[in-house]
Amino acid sequence: MKVKNYIYSRYSGINSILLLGKDRKIRDEYVMTKFYEQWKLPARYWKLGLSEAISNIKSGWSNIKLRIKAQVKENDNLKNDDKHYINYILKSNELYHSILTRKEIEIPKVFKDKELNYQYLNNLIRRYTRKYKNKIPYSNKNTTFSIDTGLYSYKEGYINITCAKKGKRLPIKLTDRNIRNNTLKVKIIDDKLEIHCPLKVETKKHKDFVNTIGIDKGYKYLFAVSSGKLYGENLNHYLNKETERLNKINSTRNRFYALYKKNLELGNINKANNILENNLGKTKYIKNKLKHDKTVKSYINYSLNQLIKEEKPKEIVMENLDFVNWNNIYPKSIKRKLSRWIKGYIKERIEYKCDYNNINYTYINPAYTSKVCNICGRFGKRDNDVFECSNCGKLHSDINASKNILNRKYDEEISLYTKFIKVKSILENRLSINN
Ligand SMILES: [Zn+2]
Repeated sequence: MKVKNYIYSRYSGINSILLLGKDRKIRDEYVMTKFYEQWKLPARYWKLGLSEAISNIKSGWSNIKLRIKAQVKENDNLKNDDKHYINYILKSNELYHSILTRKEIEIPKVFKDKELNYQYLNNLIRRYTRKYKNKIPYSNKNTTFSIDTGLYSYKEGYINITCAKKGKRLPIKLTDRNIRNNTLKVKIIDDKLEIHCPLKVETKKHKDFVNTIGIDKGYKYLFAVSSGKLYGENLNHYLNKETERLNKINSTRNRFYALYKKNLELGNINKANNILENNLGKTKYIKNKLKHDKTVKSYINYSLNQLIKEEKPKEIVMENLDFVNWNNIYPKSIKRKLSRWIKGYIKERIEYKCDYNNINYTYINPAYTSKVCNICGRFGKRDNDVFECSNCGKLHSDINASKNILNRKYDEEISLYTKFIKVKSILENRLSINN
């Protein structure tokens, strides 16, 4: 763990780009610092920690680059040459590093006779990088470390792990009889120890998955699908129950807090402290919160499995929840009431399950998808479940939105990054042409 933290703190800054692909150099430099002597770790341990840390840093950078590329591709303000330039820079770690550290670079030959706004493009590269660069992934919590085959052995239902102290072995009773022969991850959770074994995940191919569907992630229902079906109608029930519980806790806590203050004023210090310790504590609150979160998570997974089983999608089209979050030009009305972690969790699960089942997913610009009629394009009124179009009558609001989301995929004028106001004028324009 210490090894990992050391590598992270030393190398996950911008300078780490230059070291990518040069593992040896980091390792040699590391040996020279002799940190490992100070920690008295078996060489195997720090070597594993080292290669883990490096591969984390590597994948961190390639993620950043992938995200920048995706965003550049969608950016309508950039010309093809601009995009070409940015991708060219990203390909070379040296050039990329110079841009990030604001060093002068020689304009690559390919771009010599092109009059690009380099200052603007370089700034854009820096801005995108800042946006996607994660914070240093410290593994402070001391919760996981790796052991390769030389660091463990099996004996009579126990696994023996070589300890940081030389010559010592830690025997741990196993709950199964599986014998592994690859690098294992050991995770410490409170007083329990979990041993994780990497399994090859085989993705599933479904020949009968042929549908392209739009989904709207709602509040009342978890998902509304363009096929007309709704999934996860109980989410609201769980969330309301939690809100109720939090309100109740808050009012109780407020009452005790008043009592605490009153005793303090009266000079009953002991009594006041008692109240503080026994009734304003957070332990119970956190325990219940975790229980609630677990229920919500398993409900989300259940609903998502149901959706995939019934819709048999080959592609899922949806709005990018991140996008809605960070972009303040969007009106409040389209920011859902879902709390931030639930949004993040839903997104993560959809992506995971899509990858697992070989389903493509596409993000679209959600602007006005809940405000216009999917049949005639007119702006309508939304009142909870009901969307009312002056031309087509009453529709289910979330299903209507999910159909608009699906159509947006094929919209040639509205890209993921078209501004909200621009989307409105495009939609209005279409109406005036059609009527
Ligand atoms: Zn209509």
